[in-house]
Amino acid sequence: MAKHIFITGGVVSGLGKGITGSSLGVLLKNSGLKIFMQKFDPYLNIDPGTINPIEHGEVYVTDDGGETDLDLGHYERFIDVNLSKISSTSAGKIYYEALEKERNGKFGGKTVQVIPHITNEIKQRIYKAELESKADVVITEIGGTVGDIESQPFLEALRQVRMEQGKDNVMFIHVALLPYLKVSAEFKTKPIQHSVKELLSLGIQPDVIVARSETEFEKRLKDKISLLCSIPEENVISCPDSDSIYKVPLVLESGNLHKITARQLKLDLQETNLNDWKKLVNNIENSKEILEVHIVGKYVELSDAYLSVMESLKFAGYEINKKIKINWINARKLNKNNVKEQLANAKGILVPGGFGEEGVEGKILAAQYARENNIAYLGICLGMQVACIEFARNVLNLEDANTTELDPNTKNPIIDILHGKNRENIGGTLRLGRYITSIKENTLASELYKGKEAIERHRHRYEFNNDFRKQFEENGIIFSGLYLEKDLVEIIEYSKNDFFIAAQYHPEFTSRPNKPNPLFMGFINHINKK
Ligand code: GLN
Repeated sequence: MAKHIFITGGVVSGLGKGITGSSLGVLLKNSGLKIFMQKFDPYLNIDPGTINPIEHGEVYVTDDGGETDLDLGHYERFIDVNLSKISSTSAGKIYYEALEKERNGKFGGKTVQVIPHITNEIKQRIYKAELESKADVVITEIGGTVGDIESQPFLEALRQVRMEQGKDNVMFIHVALLPYLKVSAEFKTKPIQHSVKELLSLGIQPDVIVARSETEFEKRLKDKISLLCSIPEENVISCPDSDSIYKVPLVLESGNLHKITARQLKLDLQETNLNDWKKLVNNIENSKEILEVHIVGKYVELSDAYLSVMESLKFAGYEINKKIKINWINARKLNKNNVKEQLANAKGILVPGGFGEEGVEGKILAAQYARENNIAYLGICLGMQVACIEFARNVLNLEDANTTELDPNTKNPIIDILHGKNRENIGGTLRLGRYITSIKENTLASELYKGKEAIERHRHRYEFNNDFRKQFEENGIIFSGLYLEKDLVEIIEYSKNDFFIAAQYHPEFTSRPNKPNPLFMGFINHINKK
């Protein structure tokens, strides 16, 4: 049987529950344990796939094609375990499945209620994660803040799991804000006390409090929180703001969070080996010199919309001790008149993925600017599609070249739906998750992937139209990566430029600290040499 750790949040959201859980995962994994992580989100969308990225940040995609919350990206980057669809559950999904059962008569005529029917669905997911992952420890983060109406069924389910499995098998870590009042120059413990009271009213006594504060606080406050929240003093852990999330595992190690966890859950820990992690933090500290990258995106108002892309760029930067500065260019505002001025100093242009019409013409202009001025270009998903459209329009002179996502009647559908799906029904027709890309020898792609195949994740509906392949090849485009089984284009590069490469897949989802994805590493190395 696996041990369970439940992470709840107190006082305000955005304190880094995900980072806390992931950091504990790092400590336990590097002490010899097998870790799995999952997130429960209290919102009613079935999954985040349809939420606007400007509202909720990026949709993170797992190997098995789950469209999940961006926190899963943090989990994977920290614990370096490939998670799956079961790692991401929204309240919407829980209710949807329960109501489906109700319609199919699975509840045998009973009145269907939040307790026990919804809470049972939640519990099943907890036990399913344990069974399917075969992990020693399952860490579960509960989205939102204790006290939210939506999170109550989740907390009730967790209370029941603790009651069923006991304190030796189930642990609660409460991550809560310890605010500092400048006027009176003191930290205030009252909000933490109130949020613990709220948990207690739901029948949950937390075992550990991770107090999130702006700066270190004195031991006296630990004693106070300990006394008023009925928690041993050593189980009150200080986690002050850090200039990099990747330093948090080391902060929690010094607070002994892994040892406290092991003691309560009766886990055997080997000596914790954080050498890789220390190397990463060392690289981060040594990365002072700035390297600039221009990202031409349409969700630039919220950088979380491109979280994995940003982290991937950072990881590549750390490898060569460079700090990445991103210049955000709003694709919706980019036009023929301002493109030159907006991209004038660009050494590297990255065009990330996107859906829908807005900003596409701006991205096409960015790809054209990069190609014509021999500026390093990395296109991701839509970023590959726009590079192809641009090439068709301006090099092959196919003036109305387009993707059928934008212009279903174009005579030159360079990008089109090719895999036999019904165009009317756009829900559930995406190519999602992991596919293997075979890479052509003697290409930039094969140099970057060191002759190996690229195993990468996808999230898109449209593909390069093979009817145009020959024309492209005759004019300098190399189709250097293919998904052979269906003969789909996965990577294109432009042979006449020094670094111009774009992929139909999302390389950002497989970048890890100390192991940046090859496309990002190549891009950053190239800019660095310029
Ligand atoms: N909208 C494009 C498609 O569906 C690209 C998707 C993406 O960039 N993730 O194919």
